[in-house]
Amino acid sequence: MRSATVPGPSRSWSPPASEADGRELAVYVHWPFCVSKCPYCDFNSHVRESIDEAGWREALIADLRHEAALTAGASVVSIFFGGGTPSLMDAATTAAIIDAIAALWPVAPGVEITLEANPTSVEAARFAGFARAGVNRVSLGLQALDDASLQMLGRPHDVAQGLAALDVAQANFGRVSFDLIYTRPGQTLASWQAELQRALGFGTEHLSLYQLTIEPKTRFASLHASGKLLLPDEEASADLFELTREMTAAAGLPAYEVSNHARAGAESRHNLAYWTYADYVGVGPGAHGRRRHAATVRTMKPEGWLAGVRAAGHGIAEETALDAPTRGQEALLMGLRLTDGIDPGRFEARTGVALDEAIDPQSLAELRGLGLVAPAGGNLRLTAAGAPLLNAILARLVAG
Ligand code: SF4
Repeated sequence: MRSATVPGPSRSWSPPASEADGRELAVYVHWPFCVSKCPYCDFNSHVRESIDEAGWREALIADLRHEAALTAGASVVSIFFGGGTPSLMDAATTAAIIDAIAALWPVAPGVEITLEANPTSVEAARFAGFARAGVNRVSLGLQALDDASLQMLGRPHDVAQGLAALDVAQANFGRVSFDLIYTRPGQTLASWQAELQRALGFGTEHLSLYQLTIEPKTRFASLHASGKLLLPDEEASADLFELTREMTAAAGLPAYEVSNHARAGAESRHNLAYWTYADYVGVGPGAHGRRRHAATVRTMKPEGWLAGVRAAGHGIAEETALDAPTRGQEALLMGLRLTDGIDPGRFEARTGVALDEAIDPQSLAELRGLGLVAPAGGNLRLTAAGAPLLNAILARLVAG
């Protein structure tokens, strides 16, 4: 870890009691630029010929400053650079943002600092710089381990480049995760089994395995609508999901969330903050935040966000106070994604609502009778049979 201002896991530094007692805070920084637009992607990502990087750095720090003034007493446990493609940022920009965060908030010992990266050779060449900037975890968008699939997904790299970048990532960062997309057109159980087996052999501590979904207004949506893109049907997708669960569990990286798998203790602290309804601030175009019982959304379009920050000192487009029932619903929606489910004490501390009051007792009894919900260790959680039915279960569980 580079920065003298960011305490790392190897240090004996611990925060003063007043900070330790404060709320945990996760910080999300959105870098909205990509080299090209992938045909399945509905993220807030944009292709631009040139970027005023110094201007962006300054604006992101101003947006952070606005949030810091509203979250006094909180302690940062995670920083996440997402996008877009934040691995296209200069390492000096990443370093300046990390230093600004450390100057604006107390930073918890062992803070997790993740950067999403695409595995092209250009970006891999920057990894050492990101590590020196303080990034200690990288999430690599490999997406597939065969060239035909990468081409179909419109990715700007092939398998050889992807694996070379993975090697560089493993040499530079203590913690490495990568993403794969499955339920691709024509994918069979046997081909996914071989691909996932290979992926598990790379020895990373964390894997994000997403099913390909057709998002509105993407190129894939038009192809799908015109019958030129066929995905595996529901039954085949369910079989692929089950195989994924079995293989990752057998390899010691069981699912801790719908799409995320990790060795014990290697779960993404940042994503756990979302799923356990901790406070998080989100800066940069289109970023969402939840802090002190308010929801924030930043202006989506990069140029609009930048103009907003320059005019008002922040890029917020909308800020909404969340009432108690809404907080309860949101925390249920997030928490039931987790394999361990919802801890009632933490739920109440973070939402201000007792878990018992957020759910309908009669529906809960019925869902338990059907074997879809089963408390474990005091937590409310879905069973393996209930997990694929999350949305339907939620609709019934939420107290009316
Ligand atoms: S690189 Fe990632 S964020 Fe950019 S277009 Fe592709 S999927 Fe979307």
